[in-house]
Amino acid sequence: MSIAQNLEQIRKQLNENVTLVAVSKTKPVTDLQEAYNAGQRVFGENKAIEMRDKHEALPNDIQWHFIGHLQTNKIKYIVPFVSLIHSVDSLNLLKEIDKEAAKKGRTVNCLLQFHIASEETKFGLDFAEACALLDSDDYKAMSNINLVGVMGMATNTDKQQLVRTEFRNLKNIFNRLKDRYFSDKNDFCEISTGMSGDYPIAVEEGSTIVRVGSAIFGARNYN
Ligand SMILES: *Cc1c(COP(=O)(O)O)cnc(C)c1O
Repeated sequence: MSIAQNLEQIRKQLNENVTLVAVSKTKPVTDLQEAYNAGQRVFGENKAIEMRDKHEALPNDIQWHFIGHLQTNKIKYIVPFVSLIHSVDSLNLLKEIDKEAAKKGRTVNCLLQFHIASEETKFGLDFAEACALLDSDDYKAMSNINLVGVMGMATNTDKQQLVRTEFRNLKNIFNRLKDRYFSDKNDFCEISTGMSGDYPIAVEEGSTIVRVGSAIFGARNYN
């Protein structure tokens, strides 16, 4: 099936209040252009320089979401245009994003990334670490960051019940943070979870942003 057909299939399964991020990492600009021509406007990348280069090559009404582990020395490449950073997993990273955003005169939307999978390898905070971050004077002093929700990746497994439990856990974390820190902040409303293999379950469990790569663009080829 073509990229356009894949997108159509996936959109049909998603309620219109769920944002579909087309994860285009490693894929050539021609593939992104094909998705763009089929109406897709939100793209996700996990490497800063690759995202910057694609941003420069493609139409400027695209919303670019950064979904990978972000090194502090790469923040400057994406801050001028990024519309959402999904992967904030430390106070230090948030401080550096704030600093770069201030230099550029922007406010950058971010999600806090949580470790919800049973695998060791996935990045992310736990609830206590997030509270420590949000309670810190450093966080309270930031004026160029807008936290709009949470992100997480479920275990890469075909055990659907485990995956569902992990999504539920993320939703629970979101609810607790909302109550404790963001109850008067309407735009703290996003739960980014679900990928090609598990986005239907994620949406059932409250995801508002799904990040789908291979189901749109085909398998990735890492050289
Ligand atoms: C690559 C990636 C995705 C998309 O994965 P697919 O299985 O290809 O849909 C989603 N989220 C993150 C953080 C990724 O790195």
